Amino acid sequence: MTEPTSHETILINPATGHEFIRVPHRSIDDTNQVIAESVRAGVSWRALSAAERGRLLARFARAIAADREHLATLTMTEAGHPITAARAEADQVRDVFAYFAGAPERHLGTQIPVAGGTAITFREPLGAVGIIAPWNFPLPIAAWGTAPALAAGNTVVLKPAELTPLGALRLEHLASEAGLPDGVFRVVTGSGAVLGDHLARHPDVAKIIFTGSTATGARVLAAAAEHIKPVTLELGGHNASIVFSDANLAAAAAATPSGALDNAGQDCCARSRVYVQRPVFERFVDLLIPAMDALRVGDPLDPRTQLGPLISAAHRNRVAALVTNDIPVVYRGQVPQDSGFWFPPTVLAPPPHHPILDAEVFGPVFSLLPFDTEDEVIERVNNTPYGLAGSIWTRDGARGLRMARALHVGNLSINSQTAVRYQTPFGGMKHSGLGRELGPDALDAVTEVKTVFISHDGPHPSTQRNEEL
Ligand code: NDP
Repeated sequence: MTEPTSHETILINPATGHEFIRVPHRSIDDTNQVIAESVRAGVSWRALSAAERGRLLARFARAIAADREHLATLTMTEAGHPITAARAEADQVRDVFAYFAGAPERHLGTQIPVAGGTAITFREPLGAVGIIAPWNFPLPIAAWGTAPALAAGNTVVLKPAELTPLGALRLEHLASEAGLPDGVFRVVTGSGAVLGDHLARHPDVAKIIFTGSTATGARVLAAAAEHIKPVTLELGGHNASIVFSDANLAAAAAATPSGALDNAGQDCCARSRVYVQRPVFERFVDLLIPAMDALRVGDPLDPRTQLGPLISAAHRNRVAALVTNDIPVVYRGQVPQDSGFWFPPTVLAPPPHHPILDAEVFGPVFSLLPFDTEDEVIERVNNTPYGLAGSIWTRDGARGLRMARALHVGNLSINSQTAVRYQTPFGGMKHSGLGRELGPDALDAVTEVKTVFISHDGPHPSTQRNEEL
């Protein structure tokens, strides 16, 4: 378990339970200096031509690609991710920067026809953007905020989670190697309650992009309100996968472990409630068990490993406390017996209204739930404060779309266990968040619109203005 102190964090490898490094915390004074440098660097960064900013971001993407193995090893060591998954995360970071490297020249304002002249809009950068990242996907989530913010001409001050600062520090180093000007992308390490809160309140931080729990997100929103600061929030989820009788059951069963358990279930999009239509329930379970047996759990260094440990002892204890003895167990896998923070992959069959169905488990655990009708499952799936993600498995295209319209979530996949792509918007409804990251929407979220009216024939009398209104 990591022991935060006022001046450093002791990092523990989640797979072994052993300490491997101590990371100093930035003081508030240091952080103020970093923010001031970030604001100063923004003046010349936003003044660069769009093409030049894009070229520098493309170089950053290439530096990330060249450093893939190092970045993956850091994620494996600090977050416990299996090396194959950690490599895929490093690749995603590269892809996100490469995608947004093409954005500066394409993120355009508009021209709007109005009486008496022409109106044009500019998309302007906001300034120094504060990014507060979680520990579950430390590098990709940092990149989701950072890449569009930089592309749009903002600078970034990133505060990684206390448990996973190393990948972020490496990214800062790579940005500098790639030639990004000093101060454009900075990382401050330390506690969220101190430095995260400070970023959210600081008058010179123009926007906050926060990913983490709903409770902390609400605190960040309140802190940012002091200076009317815009906020993007990516918060928790309590997602469902819905398997209809007409689905390709083999495909649905094969994809279910990945949809629920990737990253040991520490995924805001994890489909931890799996609703299966009653006529095919038993058959689905028969297909699911071999898929669970095939999961490779254990040594993160083994490239075949799919499931690693949880992030910390405290988090493992939290997950264990949710899996109470009164819940029937459909499946429980094996984990290594060493001192790391392991929890066995577990499939439960809780009765309706069991408390585990109200919690975001954030561990390698999911529940199987039979249902009868479309209306019933819509009601049950929507009956949560969260609204992030979900899957629908059916061969009936009209039903797939009907369901997609009826579910109150931000990201849905039909006949797939995931909907996250860097080219498309990502974010949640209800308590799962505010605003969208990735895709073109991410650029709108880090810019503001300025409207300019150009008169074609000189100043207008006020009557003309009223006519326009
Ligand atoms: P937290 O909300 O505690 O932490 C997230 C980040 O916020 C960390 O960097 C943390 O710093 C920082 N932080 C903590 N307190 C404050 C504060 N008062 N002001 C500003 N920043 C603060 O979440 P967890 O670490 O527990 O992450 C897991 C949760 O995040 C899950 O509930 C999960 O669903 C959600 N999540 C949502 C995602 C989404 O995209 N919707 C993605 C990933 C996770 P420190 O580490 O130092 O405490």
